[in-house]
Amino acid sequence: MNAEVEHVKIVEVGPRDGLQNEPLFVPTSTKVELINLLAKTGLKHIEATSFVSPKAIPQLADGAEVYRQIDKPEDVCYSVLVPNLKGLENALACGVKEIALFTAVSESFTQRNINCSIAESIHRFSDVVTLAKQHGIRIRGYVSCVLGCPYEGSIEPQKVASLTEQLIELGVDEVSLGDTIGVGTPKQTQEMIKAVSEHVPLDKLAMHFHDTYGQAIANIYASLELGVSIFDSALAGLGGCPYARGASGNVATEDVLYLMNGLGIETGVDIYKVIMAGQTLCERIGRENQSKVSRALS
Ligand SMILES: [Zn+2]
Repeated sequence: MNAEVEHVKIVEVGPRDGLQNEPLFVPTSTKVELINLLAKTGLKHIEATSFVSPKAIPQLADGAEVYRQIDKPEDVCYSVLVPNLKGLENALACGVKEIALFTAVSESFTQRNINCSIAESIHRFSDVVTLAKQHGIRIRGYVSCVLGCPYEGSIEPQKVASLTEQLIELGVDEVSLGDTIGVGTPKQTQEMIKAVSEHVPLDKLAMHFHDTYGQAIANIYASLELGVSIFDSALAGLGGCPYARGASGNVATEDVLYLMNGLGIETGVDIYKVIMAGQTLCERIGRENQSKVSRALS
């Protein structure tokens, strides 16, 4: 490997990115149980839920209640996705300490997903960022479709770079670059990261892969080679994308941990505890476990 990454930060997005795409509503008590289990695995970053309109995402309509009920150990950071100022105000009222904002590098995807142009989404960001900063809230920015868009096809790496740079300039602390539909390959991943890292420090970048074409683990390895050290994943490979036909879930946390363990890269997370949590959840919601590692070991 070229770059020496010794420690990786894993952001567990299953409770939000995963559960928001489940066909059925997962009961609040199951969500709370899941998040509490995850916090006992060594994971320090968990995206707990979303404070979006219940009409937009009914699966997470209980976001505030979930946030209120979960254990919040001091050393675990729970982020919440907020779409706008109203979402942030709700988050502040609940005592949330980290928020995630969302935009995409594709104009058509942004339009269909959040009903505005990319420029308008950045404009909305700036109000939210200003208020969040006043309250000492840490901010994560999601950029979707970085390696391809269901409507526009391939995406110029330069576009990803300039949008990411804009977000960092606004005051976003960390930008998660998402291959939302899971079409990217390692070479494409590296070209994109190289373009972005000319404008933004690498330690502010996270990679967020979906495994639609089975490339996620290879893409993570390709990202590690360039020195990226933050990765999003979801236990049991939960997730999908309602806007992308056939898009499968996020890369499974269990599979990422197996990769890191094999490379001798420290994560601080107990893979067996994550496997147990994933199996418990899959039993509860009657879902097939998408983690290859989990299936192999159980
Ligand atoms: Zn995702």
